[in-house]
Amino acid sequence: MKNVIAELAKKHECFYLYNENCIIEHTNRLKHDFPQVEFLYSIKCNANQHVIKSVFSQGFGADAASLGEVHLAVQSGLAKNQIYYSAPGKNLLDIEQSMGRAILIADSIHEIRLINRIAKKRNLVVKIGVRINPDFTFYRDGGCSSKFGVDEKQILSFLANNDCFNIKIVGIHVHLRSQELNADILAAYYKKIFLLAERFQRANKNSLEFINMGSGIGIQYSSQDVPLDTESLGQMVNEYMNAFSVTNPETKIIIEVGRYAVGKSGVYVTTVTDRKVSYGKTYLILKNTLNGFIRPSLARLVAKYASETAPVASEPLFTCKDAFEFLTLKEESDFEKVTLVGNLCTATDVITEDIMLPHLECGDVIIITNAGSYGAVLSPMQFSSQEKPAELFMTKNGEILS
Ligand SMILES: *Cc1c(COP(=O)(O)O)cnc(C)c1O
Repeated sequence: MKNVIAELAKKHECFYLYNENCIIEHTNRLKHDFPQVEFLYSIKCNANQHVIKSVFSQGFGADAASLGEVHLAVQSGLAKNQIYYSAPGKNLLDIEQSMGRAILIADSIHEIRLINRIAKKRNLVVKIGVRINPDFTFYRDGGCSSKFGVDEKQILSFLANNDCFNIKIVGIHVHLRSQELNADILAAYYKKIFLLAERFQRANKNSLEFINMGSGIGIQYSSQDVPLDTESLGQMVNEYMNAFSVTNPETKIIIEVGRYAVGKSGVYVTTVTDRKVSYGKTYLILKNTLNGFIRPSLARLVAKYASETAPVASEPLFTCKDAFEFLTLKEESDFEKVTLVGNLCTATDVITEDIMLPHLECGDVIIITNAGSYGAVLSPMQFSSQEKPAELFMTKNGEILS
């Protein structure tokens, strides 16, 4: 990999590189460990055309968070019943344009009525899902306030007097959090979703065609993280599914993932453009850091202001303090203490302070890990009218696509 990066760095001062083999490894692991589950890819974490095509070619459907993502999924060749469109605040146009192209997941009672109205105008009965804010969290019973979905109590009482005759609610969607590494916590969450599905079915008086259990599946960011045991999680989910399928043999069980499919597959590569010493501190000035890949700058900002040693995550902007490694192509010798900053005209453009790295000169390369998800898509690339980093994709055959 380092040879490939060195070659590409001759042509590009900063770039993302996504490795298809790594995507295949991660998607295969999910398919292997959860043989009965259908997976969706959450496009919002990385919408690069080669990345999404690669994940879809592994048999994943799409979790679209906008009309634009519905279009991306359609253009990538997915069928209507493989695309689930779930987001708060869909407007009339979003619904009109996505109806017939994706399965709509209503995020509020207002949206249910809006979809019903459009379906009525088109003389259709449209099958939809509804996102629920359940009466539980990841960690305890009892729900909490959320901008997402419809509170469980509200949707159950809506169903009791459902007067929307041009829709049929055939699915539920729950997603409460990201980046969980504890298999027991995730399993307990999934179990509660099956119980919720039973409550829902009783109120809805027909059986569900799908249950979308959302995400939560995390990846190793810090070297302190213990990777999620997907094998034992898969076994527990399998048990719940088997029990549920006795009375609901037709219901599809869905898990959607973003970061797990692609997070580890990407690196961000940038180049030293200057080095200077100020009051005894050595700075390496790098091409497009905060604006090219914002998450290391955000992590350093949080670490600077948080008093705790392990500030609480705020996904997908901040995961944990040591979420990224800074690697070089140099021999591990001749170390010096450096601070890595970017070329923007703002003092906040710092990605890490006082770390030990091999001595680097202008033209040398820094590689930042864990850049496959929430990297390019989150970064403020318009700021300061800098050149955008290239996004390169290495196919399983070693071919580089841009
Ligand atoms: C962002 C998002 C995901 C993906 O989360 P990851 O932590 O990247 O797997 C899944 N479901 C919903 C509803 C989301 O908003």
